[in-house]
Amino acid sequence: MPRNIGFIGVGLMGRGMVHSLLRNGHSLKIYNRTREKAQDAAQGLGTVVDTPAQAAQGSDIIVTMLADPNAVLGVLEGEDGYLSTIGRGSVVIDSSTISPPVTLTVAQKLKAKGAEMLDAPVFGSKNEAEKGELGFIVGGDPSVFNDVQDVFSAMGKTFYVGTNGMGSYAKLVVNFIIAASLQAMNEGMVLATKAGLNPDVMMQIIQTSRARSGIIEMKAPQVLKRDFSPFFPLRLMDKDLGLVMDTARSLKVPMILGSVLKEVYSACMAQGLADEDFCATIKLLEGITQVEVKGESQ
Ligand code: NAP
Repeated sequence: MPRNIGFIGVGLMGRGMVHSLLRNGHSLKIYNRTREKAQDAAQGLGTVVDTPAQAAQGSDIIVTMLADPNAVLGVLEGEDGYLSTIGRGSVVIDSSTISPPVTLTVAQKLKAKGAEMLDAPVFGSKNEAEKGELGFIVGGDPSVFNDVQDVFSAMGKTFYVGTNGMGSYAKLVVNFIIAASLQAMNEGMVLATKAGLNPDVMMQIIQTSRARSGIIEMKAPQVLKRDFSPFFPLRLMDKDLGLVMDTARSLKVPMILGSVLKEVYSACMAQGLADEDFCATIKLLEGITQVEVKGESQ
């Protein structure tokens, strides 16, 4: 059955998610702060609206895919926020990566209006969003989750992890490990290049050995080609590492590597790398050591 969906936030990820929902026959009202992106994402099939409130009006499901906690709260209860129009029984799927406490705040505010919320941050990037192959890590009421399986299946697969907030916790854990793995690649590859090893061969050795990883598989070709166009902008991983460290403090978990990584990302932000892909973190070390990790075909 086609659903009436309000979709809020069509950046790098939201755009592909909108396309997947449209392909599956759902009816969409699309809001984006920068209106042109909404028009572009709608492909003449979805309806572009001017406010988050209009996106939620008459929608059974609202999907939000926004940069950070402030954006999520802003579209909820800021000027023309969707809290003013959301209907009783509607379900909000928030796929933004935000902090567990903000997730709980949003869930409580919606509950007070008779609406439900699932935190459903994703793994996968813009290509997976376009193909409907994202992974959703879902927290919330299991019966609400079951009721919206068709919406998730249009966009990818799901992993149910528990009550509201658990999806957000799990996503932060994934991103911490991705950032750590990428930083290990960066340092290892700069060391290898400085020592005079061939970067192409070194990457092949890493990916054939037990050091191999999924994030290296994705990012090594980009680094070797010196293509830092954003799949996952560095500013978003900087945000996520901030959320990881806030979470670590609140749960009294020492995260030594996490605090160092946060400093690496802060330094990269200061270097003006915010809007490049997060694999541009390698440029920080390259600048210090005066080497460039570059493939031979480049
Ligand atoms: P993005 O391209 O930067 O898009 C961010 C979206 O949030 C845009 O629609 C932007 O509107 C909107 N936004 C930002 N601040 C806002 C505010 N104050 N009020 C209203 N709207 C605001 O980011 P993305 O890559 O799509 O990522 C979206 C979320 O998914 C983030 O939480 C990110 O951490 C997470 N994520 C991303 C990836 C990835 O590979 N990119 C993978 C997994 C998870 P404008 O267009 O007007 O700026």
